[in-house]
Amino acid sequence: MVTSTPAKARPPWQDAQFIGGHPVLDLTNAVFDRAHPTEDGELLETPSDVLTWCASAGLFDRVPPLAEADGLVAEVQAVREQAWAVFSAVARDSAVPAEAFGALLERAGTGVRAGYVQRPDSPLDHFTADWTAPAAIPAVLALLAVHALYTLPPDRIRECGRCGWLFLDSSRGGRRRWCSMSTCGNREKASRHRRTRTRR
Ligand SMILES: [Zn+2]
Repeated sequence: MVTSTPAKARPPWQDAQFIGGHPVLDLTNAVFDRAHPTEDGELLETPSDVLTWCASAGLFDRVPPLAEADGLVAEVQAVREQAWAVFSAVARDSAVPAEAFGALLERAGTGVRAGYVQRPDSPLDHFTADWTAPAAIPAVLALLAVHALYTLPPDRIRECGRCGWLFLDSSRGGRRRWCSMSTCGNREKASRHRRTRTRR
């Protein structure tokens, strides 16, 4: 079952990496910095990173054993980048890129057709997956992304003004600008402060 409430982050992940307000937005943030990419900014490097990320995002309660994980990391990274292309376009009020969105639809469809992903009941955002099949994970993430595109309010999807992470602005006034006040918000304030001081 998929919920938008993250579980407690499992190492090496930290709660601060799950600020997106939706698992798909959190997935797009599984890179160190979107706005200033660095070579060592990849956070999904091993199958274990993928599994602990999924558990942290609340996708499953127990980390499942994987029979084999060939290609898992590359596929999840591909879904992440396609979802980022789609939702960063939404955040910027641009047209959703057809190629990235088409790839998500295709992967989600393949997972459903193969039986990796099933819907156990009527709510559209609840589904179960055969987590022991490595292909289930990218299929579920792609399905979640497709679902999110049709259900999240587009005018509340934002991009952090500093690091480029995406988040759902659920604040009352709808004026959230930072992924997190304690990291980017304060860093921005600090550098503005420095700029003001050096100008004197
Ligand atoms: Zn940020």
